[in-house]
Amino acid sequence: MEKKSIVRVVQGLLKDEGYRIGAIDGIPGPKTESALMKALGKRESSLPEGWESWPRTRLGTAYLQLCCHEHDIDAGKIDGYWGQVTDYAYSVLKEVRETGSRPPLWRDTDPLDVNPNAWPVQTTAAMTAFFGRPGSNLVTIDVPYTHCLAWDQRVKVNRITCNRRVADSLVRVLTRVKSHYGPDGIDDLGLDLYGGCFNNRTMRGGSRKSTHAWGIALDYSPSSNKLRWGRDRAHFARPEYDKWWEFWEKEGWVSLGREKNFDWMHVQAAKLP
Ligand SMILES: [Zn+2]
Repeated sequence: MEKKSIVRVVQGLLKDEGYRIGAIDGIPGPKTESALMKALGKRESSLPEGWESWPRTRLGTAYLQLCCHEHDIDAGKIDGYWGQVTDYAYSVLKEVRETGSRPPLWRDTDPLDVNPNAWPVQTTAAMTAFFGRPGSNLVTIDVPYTHCLAWDQRVKVNRITCNRRVADSLVRVLTRVKSHYGPDGIDDLGLDLYGGCFNNRTMRGGSRKSTHAWGIALDYSPSSNKLRWGRDRAHFARPEYDKWWEFWEKEGWVSLGREKNFDWMHVQAAKLP
């Protein structure tokens, strides 16, 4: 639980239990820490032996797991480790606290079917007619907020090379993302984890050119949205990403995740045939 937003949830839960923890600021200071120990002490019977000597982040995670169970949300084993199950349970707990109700197990999330920029259908002929040959007609844009390489987050990305015909739309989308989510939201949700745009390559497992070859597709946060993951696992399928997708879809972009339930990292300026 190193992220500020997670610490804030821990602090909010401790405060609700009546502990005096000072400001809910996302910083795990001494008051937060001592309240955390007291809250865990109260639940000692549900904790494994030796928990007192766990590092703080593990204690915080264990506390969240316990709180999830108390809210009837399955967080798996109380072990203080942030795995797949805990991650999902946490997102449900957060939603319950923010909205007072659980996210529905299945949301009616039909993608918006609009096409204000008249993006072509995803066929080689239609895309070449509209965007030019793969690898041509490229421009480099300044991104509205700093990205970083998903596979090496120390590397900042401030410019992206894309097809000239998607450039303005791309900037509009990312400007809306920036003003809606702000720096903390972007950081928490990984909306800056850039997985690439222009790449003159063929489709995975195919001989046809990928939409990336025209510079009209972007990938985000690939490690939390693996190619074959469906909405049960892909982070970008969660409700906190609804606005993200709305901003893309309002500009006619297509999410393969939302349309086909795979490759949730990928968004493209071409309609599915
Ligand atoms: Zn892609």
